[in-house]
Amino acid sequence: MEPVKSGISFCRRCGHSLVTRWLESELHERDVCASCGWIDYRNPKLLVTCMVHWGDRLLLCRRGVEPAKGLWYPPTGFVEAGETLEEAVARELREESGVQINPSELALYAVASLPHMNQIYVAYRGELHAEPQLIPGPEALEVKLFGEQEVQQLQIAFSDMVGGFPRTFFSRLRNAQFPVPSVTLRRDSPAVSDNQQNAPAAFP
Ligand SMILES: [Zn+2]
Repeated sequence: MEPVKSGISFCRRCGHSLVTRWLESELHERDVCASCGWIDYRNPKLLVTCMVHWGDRLLLCRRGVEPAKGLWYPPTGFVEAGETLEEAVARELREESGVQINPSELALYAVASLPHMNQIYVAYRGELHAEPQLIPGPEALEVKLFGEQEVQQLQIAFSDMVGGFPRTFFSRLRNAQFPVPSVTLRRDSPAVSDNQQNAPAAFP
């Protein structure tokens, strides 16, 4: 497998150049500072996303920024230092849609590895108990609640990857079955199909 490049070529600690070197102690090739020995670990970034619904309507935002500007997506973002996963979901939801949810009310929904992006997504589900007041955040053009038929017609952002979550949410909601799948999404695998008919069994 090709190592994922971080794009950083200088040491964050002392500013010297990094060199790629096999480290016997870690049994791995790393970018290492030639001067101070600092190692540039290229671990995956951790993101959260949420399937928040009021009854049988799913909350989605419309992206106001590139990439995928104008397309719909569930509130998603990076986990900040010091946050739990559930706190990160509640914060992203509040920032992007104005909706408040108690982190303790969120349930694990799916885990997705995107090795080609060097990202891991953890998705949560949350049910709202009253009709929410929707206020788009600075990066969203709109926030809306959608029924199943409407979602199938929407252009979902990054539908080659995480876009499958909104499209397959409703069948799981109807059956009230929420087993937590751990899936790998690759740009060139059948799992990336935008066509629900071709969606893999592993992506419920
Ligand atoms: Zn250094």
